[in-house]
Amino acid sequence: TNARTPLIAGNWKMNLDHNEAIHTVQKLAWALKDAQHDYNAVEATVLVPFTDIRSVQTLVDSDKLGITYGAQDLSAQVSGAYTGEISPVFLSRLGVKYVAVGHSERRQYHGEDDALVNAKTKNALAHDIAPIVCVGEPLEVRKAGDQVPFTLAQVDGAFADISAEDAVKVVVAYEPVWAIGTGEVATPADAQEVAQAIRARLAELYSQDVADAVRVLYGGSVKSSSIKELMNEADVDGALVGGASLDPEEFAKIVHYQD
Ligand code: PEP
Repeated sequence: TNARTPLIAGNWKMNLDHNEAIHTVQKLAWALKDAQHDYNAVEATVLVPFTDIRSVQTLVDSDKLGITYGAQDLSAQVSGAYTGEISPVFLSRLGVKYVAVGHSERRQYHGEDDALVNAKTKNALAHDIAPIVCVGEPLEVRKAGDQVPFTLAQVDGAFADISAEDAVKVVVAYEPVWAIGTGEVATPADAQEVAQAIRARLAELYSQDVADAVRVLYGGSVKSSSIKELMNEADVDGALVGGASLDPEEFAKIVHYQD
């Protein structure tokens, strides 16, 4: 038993334009309404492309939908000569609640390292956006059995110089790289091993109270068929869902996993 509200976050990646976004969010809201979903019991959010945010905001606000929304990245800067970057100021003005930071695809294709992930995490927190910090090992590290030390080094990097007051607002997503987009979901025991280690590290870095407050998600090929077992694990507080979040009926089933 714990006081952490489960969070199911859909990561659309570079999919769905602003018109498709409206249809997808409408269908998701209808599916959750049909299921009489209690948003206070399980929070549902969608991390959408920047160009979708305004459309999603208008829909969520005008129809008073229970879901929230967020972005997939942000700048480490606040304003100025940073062509193509998106400021957390802009995001918070659009009602963004969450932002993914350091997703493995950004670490891999955009060279994001722990120092940049730390700077982006701080920038989100400074503008009242909850960072969803993504960590997790590649296949060769898992094969060597080093998933825990590898992932904890990323946790240390992300939380560097962040106060306890801010740390409780961070969400950590454990996403083993070999499980992302591969159809190969981690076993619940594998997810729990690393989620528990992350929480123990937060207790060392801060306190047991902070560790007990931070939500740790699992991500990597989650589907409606695998979510329930993952959520049974003591330290898994939700999921970051890529591919399966593009299908609103399937994503609604994942959000409403308790039934
Ligand atoms: C992700 O992009 O964070 C992810 C977990 O993707 P998928 O669910 O498709 O593996």
